[in-house]
Amino acid sequence: APTRPFDNVPDTDFSLSANQQWIKEIVNRWSTTQPQPIPLQIGGDWIHAEMQGEGIDPSRPGEPAYAYSLAGQTLVNRALEVATQAQPGWGHRTVPERRAILLDISTELAKRRGNFIGSMMLDAGKTVSEADPEVSEAIDFARYYARALDAETLGAEVWDCRMTPLGVVVVTPPWNFPLAIPAGGVLASLMAGNAVIFKPAPEAVLVGWHLAQAFWAAGVPQEVLQFVPVPDNEIGQALVTDPRVDAVILTGSLQTARRFQTWNPEIRLFAETSGKNSLIITSMADQDQAIKDLVRSAFGHNGQKCSAASLAILEAEVYDSETFRRQLCDAVASLAVGPAWDVVNVVTPRTQLPSPELERGLTTLEPGESWLLKPRMLDGNARLWSPGIKLGVQPGSFLHQTECFGPLLGLMRAKSLAEAVEMANAVDFGLTSGLHTLDDREVAFWKDRIAAGNLYINRHITGAIVRRQPFGGWKASVVGPGAKAGGPNYVLQFVDWHQVSLPR
Ligand code: GLU
Repeated sequence: APTRPFDNVPDTDFSLSANQQWIKEIVNRWSTTQPQPIPLQIGGDWIHAEMQGEGIDPSRPGEPAYAYSLAGQTLVNRALEVATQAQPGWGHRTVPERRAILLDISTELAKRRGNFIGSMMLDAGKTVSEADPEVSEAIDFARYYARALDAETLGAEVWDCRMTPLGVVVVTPPWNFPLAIPAGGVLASLMAGNAVIFKPAPEAVLVGWHLAQAFWAAGVPQEVLQFVPVPDNEIGQALVTDPRVDAVILTGSLQTARRFQTWNPEIRLFAETSGKNSLIITSMADQDQAIKDLVRSAFGHNGQKCSAASLAILEAEVYDSETFRRQLCDAVASLAVGPAWDVVNVVTPRTQLPSPELERGLTTLEPGESWLLKPRMLDGNARLWSPGIKLGVQPGSFLHQTECFGPLLGLMRAKSLAEAVEMANAVDFGLTSGLHTLDDREVAFWKDRIAAGNLYINRHITGAIVRRQPFGGWKASVVGPGAKAGGPNYVLQFVDWHQVSLPR
């Protein structure tokens, strides 16, 4: 059993010239080579299906970047049959056996860091500086979840508790964290002894394919982890409502989670959903630091994180300060903006999916609002926008209430910290939240009242780190039991646990 303390793996040090050379080659290779068509993997067969989807490089949305196979009803059915048959064998492997495989997966993931970065740049338009820590997070998930069912960690009286895996788990991740989020769901399910059907996000099939190969290379049987891109239509519905599916792990919008529940009221759903996160800055804050952290929180990966700050709620003195506004504008205007391939190690504003909400946010002013920084569409590419900042966002308005999921920050004015907390809490969601102040009494006041799953004080509010900052929401940001990802009880959600105690 692991006794050593857990250390997170470090990100790549890009100040070293060897690493700069390494990443240059990766970027060069991935931006110039067309990926091979991607098959499905069902029951150990790599299948090139009739139904095909197109992978799009958001930096060059004009022509498809690669083709991938999609499962129809017959193939979905076969995958479910295979998973159901394969699960008991996997579930009967001992915890140490499964732990050893998870540790081997962590090694395989680390070996493929460069390819993961390249594929995330292609699929999700991630910059190197956003993609590299995501690889670290995936590796951390493998090493951390490997310890999850350790008797000592569990505090079990005798190491004779029986754990029955749930059975077959469908993992449906989002496109914005196309590596770490599916890795986390698949690893936790596998560690707990479940068979997994991995349905990658349609926008990030390439990353998913590379991820699945790391699992198989580490010894996860192909029947136990199948790779099944499925269209988000009635076939996807058939998958998540099939009685052979025992649980579904979803990271996506609240609407999708609700849709799954409507389709199948019996569904055992573990969903991390939307956020409408604010960072409060009081008159007692270090404003330089606050601006730095706000810009990173709002515009890292172009605001396309459910953890992103989309509201800054400023105490009147800060809101009214010309200096604050100018510094914020300068900081945002100096972000490098452009296709992921052209910039290394900077934040690149970019949007993958121009949703109706984002379009409205980027193009419309609601009553009371004005632009502090007006966003622009770049290169005639609707997926590429420079960041925008709105002044005068009103309580109860569209931007106060709606997740837009893009490079858009709204500023709100509050008379006091108490009013700022009220505004922050007056949204349906409760994922992340931040406070900037140097006054301990304000910290204590805020901590007691703010309704969010992850609270961040005097720092950025994204980029949760495995074990150090278990990640997950509150209120409408979570559907299901809601144990935090990268936290001590995440894996336990995927077993039924029967404690067996002996006479002393
Ligand atoms: N875990 C990520 C973070 O802390 C956010 C994940 C998401 O956007 O779904 O920034």
